[in-house]
Amino acid sequence: MINSPDQSAVKLEKDADKSSQSKSIILAIVLGLLGALINSIPIELAYNITLIIGNLTFIIAASYLRPALTLLSAAICIAPLFIILGHPFGFITFGLEALFVSYMRGRGWYLPTADLLYWLIIGMPLTAMLMVYTNADAHGYFLFTLFKQSINAIFYTTLAVILIFVFSEKLNRWVQSQQPPLVKNLKQYLHYIMWIMSAFLVVGMCLFLSRNLNDLQQQQFEDKLNISSQYFARVVENYIDDHKKAVSQIANHLSVIEPSDYNETLTQAHKLSPGFISMLIADQNAKIKFSSPSSLMESLPKSAESISDRSYFKQAFFKQTLYISPVFLGRGFGADPIVAISSPIYADNQTTPVGIVEGSINLNIFNQVNLYSANDREIALVLIDENNNVIFSEPTLALTTLSKLNISYDKSKPGHELLILKSHDLNEKRYLFRQQTLSNGWKIYAIIEHKQVLQLIEQQYLTIFISLFLVFILVVLLADQFANTLNRPLAFALKELAHGKGQRGYQRIPFDAPTEFISLYDELQQSKEKLLKQQFILEEKVEKRTKALNEANKTLKELASTDSLTGLHNRRFLETKFSELQAILSRNNADMIVAMLDLDNFKKLNDEFGHLVGDNCLAYLGALMKSKFDRRSDIVARFGGEEFIVVAQHDEQNGVLNKLEALREEIEQHIFSHDEQQCFSVTVSIGAMTAPASYSENIDDWIKLADEQLYLSKSKGRNRLTLEHIS
Ligand code: GH3
Ligand code: MG
Ligand code: MG
Repeated sequence: MINSPDQSAVKLEKDADKSSQSKSIILAIVLGLLGALINSIPIELAYNITLIIGNLTFIIAASYLRPALTLLSAAICIAPLFIILGHPFGFITFGLEALFVSYMRGRGWYLPTADLLYWLIIGMPLTAMLMVYTNADAHGYFLFTLFKQSINAIFYTTLAVILIFVFSEKLNRWVQSQQPPLVKNLKQYLHYIMWIMSAFLVVGMCLFLSRNLNDLQQQQFEDKLNISSQYFARVVENYIDDHKKAVSQIANHLSVIEPSDYNETLTQAHKLSPGFISMLIADQNAKIKFSSPSSLMESLPKSAESISDRSYFKQAFFKQTLYISPVFLGRGFGADPIVAISSPIYADNQTTPVGIVEGSINLNIFNQVNLYSANDREIALVLIDENNNVIFSEPTLALTTLSKLNISYDKSKPGHELLILKSHDLNEKRYLFRQQTLSNGWKIYAIIEHKQVLQLIEQQYLTIFISLFLVFILVVLLADQFANTLNRPLAFALKELAHGKGQRGYQRIPFDAPTEFISLYDELQQSKEKLLKQQFILEEKVEKRTKALNEANKTLKELASTDSLTGLHNRRFLETKFSELQAILSRNNADMIVAMLDLDNFKKLNDEFGHLVGDNCLAYLGALMKSKFDRRSDIVARFGGEEFIVVAQHDEQNGVLNKLEALREEIEQHIFSHDEQQCFSVTVSIGAMTAPASYSENIDDWIKLADEQLYLSKSKGRNRLTLEHIS
């Protein structure tokens, strides 16, 4: 079957549509894959904070594709984030972003404005809701995440727009945009470009600087943790060593003196080691004998006199070693958590001990140690014994001394393992940490809350946000100002050119204007002058032509209503003029005369002298009739061949009839000469009728009667006038 041209055209159009549709789908997929590739290589900004850049590809898609295909692009692009972040919320927030931006772009919005609007009215609230819903705020990431998301979005959107600027021409050649072209006035264009450039620079620079700053800060935190933990470990270790040494020395000393001197010696020794809250000496029956301060003995309850169940007694007495206990709750001399150091006492070279001496370490001393050591509020220290019981901890951590330290690790961020600490009120917090194990099995944790690290970055992001806002205002003001420098001279020049030169000539532009403008203005002035001159010449020409045309028209009209041979009016003219005249006369109750004239034996004349002579005859008659019936209202026409008609007002003086009679006579007497020698004359027969003009509106009725009279004239012998009057 052969297609008609129309069908082929439709088919071609359909094919073109199909190919552009498939190109759009390919573009969506390619952009999506490209974005996915970029998104699968996360750019780390700081602890576990990654910059998402791949999303710029679906922003590019939005500038070419309608929402559905943009969403397709976004879905592909976001897939790696789903795997990296481990939650599907990106599909919601970024998917909606793609839809919104593409839709708004379709309605003529700029991409960055649409994107900013999205994050302000949908993206940020939605993220906040999702975070509340999933309880992600538990770690203090709330504000931080919101800022980060928006700044990140501004960054990739501006980057996308810059890429579109650079590559749009190439892309346009390959794919036909589904989006309408953006219509911008100068001011909007300036806003757009300046905003893009400054937003990109501000965000880019800030992110770059903040990344470096964060690296530094991270290093600083790690250094602080290292130093603090090592320093504290040394301090604790030295402290314990000193006190162990002290106890060991006291024990040696007690072993060589009389028991009666024990009390005195103990008091002396305690004075030298003020780090002990209390000291005591017990005998081989584990009964407390002496204490320092000795006043403690007085308030010692009977039940607390024996320390046989205490490990510091058992270990020192039975195992005969210098012993340092885990942390435990004191008894007798107060109920504080204490760490005890004990050593056996011998008597005069015996190998079995006669008792033990013990010192209880003041755990509060570590408070001061910490203050001196780090002098850094943000670092907190925790000291635990070999049973994981808390010996010392920063009060702000809300940990209970002597209770088990409740920790776990967050290993979800490789390279940045975090410690999760549960305080006694079951609050969970995350910390960067360093752990040191002391030689006696105790452990030290130096920790910094992760939130503190984020707070700094949060501040940086807030700064970026505020900077962006200020930049935005600046851009608007600058663009306005700049647009004005262009618009004002332009508007002035246009107004001046429109209103014309006037007497003073074109005015100078009274603003600062670029030189290009001024020369353009000059050129336009000259062009306008030339144009005006040209127009004037043209108008003159047109006027002349119109005049000639009017004259030609007039002649043409006359030609159409005139008989060329006789110069009399023709039958057509007669018919129109008759009606006018008849109407006027009948309104005035006047009479009208219609006369029909016919040359006699004209055929013969033609035959005898030739047609040319006949024509001359007719021309003569025409001229004659014209001169005779010269009233404006008289109608004289050649009716056809050698027949003429006269229509005129008939009055009582019989003016027209007389004229007709005179005409007949004049013709009769006129001698025509032919070839000098031959002469001849012609006669005319006339039939006339008069009647009130109202007799008939139809010319044929009149002519019919006049013709009858003419016939009578002819039959009566020609060369006469016959008249009938109808009243
Ligand atoms: P009658 O007296 O009965 O009117 O006789 P006639 O010959 O005049 O009448 P007829 O109707 O028989 O002939 C009219 C002639 O007029 C015929 C034609 O040769 C001549 N005629 C008509 N129109 C023209 C014209 O425009 N030029 C010339 N030269 N002759 C014309
Ligand atoms: Mg005739
Ligand atoms: Mg005739």
